[in-house]
Amino acid sequence: MSGRWDTKKLPHKGWECVGVTDLGDSGQMDESDYATCEMCQNERIRYVHTMKHPKVEEPIDVGCICASKMSSDYVGPKNRERVLRNKASRKSRWLTRKWRKSAKGNHCLNVDGANLGVDRSRRGWGYRLDDRFSTSAYATSDEAKLALFEAHWAQIQSEVKSWNDQPIRAYTESVPLLNPSPGAFAPPSPQRGGPTSISICAAARPTLIFAARAERLR
Ligand SMILES: [Zn+2]
Repeated sequence: MSGRWDTKKLPHKGWECVGVTDLGDSGQMDESDYATCEMCQNERIRYVHTMKHPKVEEPIDVGCICASKMSSDYVGPKNRERVLRNKASRKSRWLTRKWRKSAKGNHCLNVDGANLGVDRSRRGWGYRLDDRFSTSAYATSDEAKLALFEAHWAQIQSEVKSWNDQPIRAYTESVPLLNPSPGAFAPPSPQRGGPTSISICAAARPTLIFAARAERLR
């Protein structure tokens, strides 16, 4: 270990991550775009983890390895970085996806269950996320598509978050044994005189239980 890890000026433990930033988010990266880890001083970092400590006034920016050690969390920082890496890779392919063009010259795309589009008005290009319209106007269709990507990504993340915030519950349910259709995966069919249903026990989030039920009712 080196840099500020060798000094006692900064606490080594008890830090909390308050955000992660991708310095290469806007596209191609130059050597000068990378940051230096403020803790070990020698990490060339693209993903900047901003860390706060109750006894240190200013937050500091560090790399993934130092963030893990400082927060004693060896899962969270890696996961947060993976989400940003996933975002960067999707963003790099965004403009070359198969956008459908309408007769009016508008472009649209169905992705992740959402209907997205960009269209031209007198003010310039704007985007539409399902039935929500952008408030800003953009000079080119590509600019509008990239702004749309950010809005769409934010929407997905908030859905993921509300899903993750749901408590996990244990539940037990009785599932009837049916004669499976040929080739289909199904529980064993009932034996004559044997049980006609099985009890399953699982831990799941309420929406998953609901979805499983709806699926069976169809
Ligand atoms: Zn470091």
